[in-house]
Amino acid sequence: MAIERLVEPTAAHDDAEEERIEISLRPVTFDEYIGQEHLKSNIKLAIEAVKKRSDGSTLDHILLYGPPGLGKTTMAGVIAHELGASLRVTSGPAIERAGDLASILTNLKDGDILFIDEIHRLRRAVEEVLYSAMEDYKLDIVIGKGPAARSVRLDLPHFTVIGATTRTGSLAGPLRDRFGIIHRLEYYKEPEIEQIINRTAGILKTKIEPEATKILATRSRLTPRIANRIFKRVRDYADVNGDGIIDKPVAEKALDLMEIDRLGLDPADRNMLKLMIDNYGERPVGLTTIAALTGDEATTIEDFYEPYLLQMGLLMRTPKGRVVTEKGKKHLQKEDEHLQNKKNMI
Ligand code: ADP
Repeated sequence: MAIERLVEPTAAHDDAEEERIEISLRPVTFDEYIGQEHLKSNIKLAIEAVKKRSDGSTLDHILLYGPPGLGKTTMAGVIAHELGASLRVTSGPAIERAGDLASILTNLKDGDILFIDEIHRLRRAVEEVLYSAMEDYKLDIVIGKGPAARSVRLDLPHFTVIGATTRTGSLAGPLRDRFGIIHRLEYYKEPEIEQIINRTAGILKTKIEPEATKILATRSRLTPRIANRIFKRVRDYADVNGDGIIDKPVAEKALDLMEIDRLGLDPADRNMLKLMIDNYGERPVGLTTIAALTGDEATTIEDFYEPYLLQMGLLMRTPKGRVVTEKGKKHLQKEDEHLQNKKNMI
């Protein structure tokens, strides 16, 4: 059974207050958007070029890919803001029929941005309508049924698609080819996550000491969404158990309570690595076998657990399957000892 994880990089809003906080934390301009310098400079250049041209041309379609929670949706918002354009947000699974896409497209205006999250999950029939819409701003629709049916070509406004996906490999070639800019979002560097945490603390008017910021940053999986989520939980802990100030002991205690270890792994990650070692030792394990061991979907493991574990060198991908690395084994051992010591101290 899959459990809800605090370190889950996907968005989850328990209530309206959570959503309000989430919106207040979302960067709106390039200056507020921390890190991803390469992506920012590419996009800034493309935006400047569009602004300079006076022939009514629009920004190239942009494909952003990489693990969830790294700022793809946020970047779409920043681009729309910088262009002074309207942003329409949808997702692959939400567009069920070609007709749904047709109605979204015909309601756009020149220069609008259409953000399609999880674009790799678009249905084939919808994807085909999108090709010609992206290519030459035309919409081919069939009116009527049977022998009386006829095809009509409608002109569409000149819009920009920003697609987001966790996996470019699953994207059909013709769709990928329609994007003029394709960019991978990287995991953030620790100092960038520290900046994000300090920014969040400022917006939420919470005092956090530099040592505590560092601790939170090392346990945030180098992912802004997780950094913000952990920050909010630690802030709650500081409010309840102290004077609301987040210092080193508060940060450590709160994170230990959440069972997030010193590399940001939670019990579900550690459980997966342990199951692999206990059942397969040094031998590579296939993705479907790992999924059977943990009770998760294979795609969940591939999209959510694995990228960070690979990035940190705790897990390795081989042609025959995944193997826990020496570093991974040492980390688990160290964390087990750490937990044991903690228990002995109580
Ligand atoms: P994705 O679309 O890649 O899953 P989001 O754009 O929804 O990720 O980002 C998750 C959250 O992390 C945002 O709500 C925002 O508060 C924060 N965030 C993302 N990128 C940045 C950044 N570069 N600087 C500051 N905060 C960020």
